[in-house]
Amino acid sequence: MVRGFCRFLLDCMFPRTCVSCGCFTGGNLVCGLCRGQMVRADEASLLPGRCSTDVISPFLAGDVLLALVRFLKFEGGTAVVGWLGREMAAALEARPAGTCNTVIVPVPLHWTRLMRRGYDQAGLLAAEVSRRTGIPLRPRALGRMRRTMAQSSLDRGNRRNNVAGAFRLRSAGQIRGRDVVLVDDLVTTGETVLACCLALSGARPSSVAVLCAGRARMGKNKVERHDCHMFE
Ligand SMILES: [Zn+2]
Repeated sequence: MVRGFCRFLLDCMFPRTCVSCGCFTGGNLVCGLCRGQMVRADEASLLPGRCSTDVISPFLAGDVLLALVRFLKFEGGTAVVGWLGREMAAALEARPAGTCNTVIVPVPLHWTRLMRRGYDQAGLLAAEVSRRTGIPLRPRALGRMRRTMAQSSLDRGNRRNNVAGAFRLRSAGQIRGRDVVLVDDLVTTGETVLACCLALSGARPSSVAVLCAGRARMGKNKVERHDCHMFE
């Protein structure tokens, strides 16, 4: 039993099969075929809705990216953090706007979910981007004050209500006058990061941009419903 558990842990940390299609890869996270299906998000887009916040992302949220995020979020697959974090850091550094005034802030997880999952996937991605870019991490600048329902179970209007007021500024001094890079794993309708932007605005940051591993195609504003099951 102990051996089986260790094997499970090793498989999560060093998967030997493709996270998306399950074929043998010899240690790579994703096979060549699936890797070729991942669609790059070449340009930053604007967050849908009420503000003009940039969404920076290395990938569009297609099937393979969603499989990677699902693996990270629900199957203990922290092995993807290094790879996705590197891609996110590269996407961020490709932008000309970086300054020494920039800080990285992850979208916070509620503590009950943190206890259950054992790790905070947005926090891990944010830490990896910080490590690779040298941009300081401010992991406790924002707090999640209440537990919210899974956004995927709700329509757009209810998603907004679900996260409204869920985030609170914990440390205005870490945000005031800064260029904030808000990190989440996935942005679909954008309601979660919009609620975070609203909380951050109370500290008067110089700017806020969103950095994620994958985002929905803008124009459609969200990925198909079956694709975003249990995600945001
Ligand atoms: Zn594959």
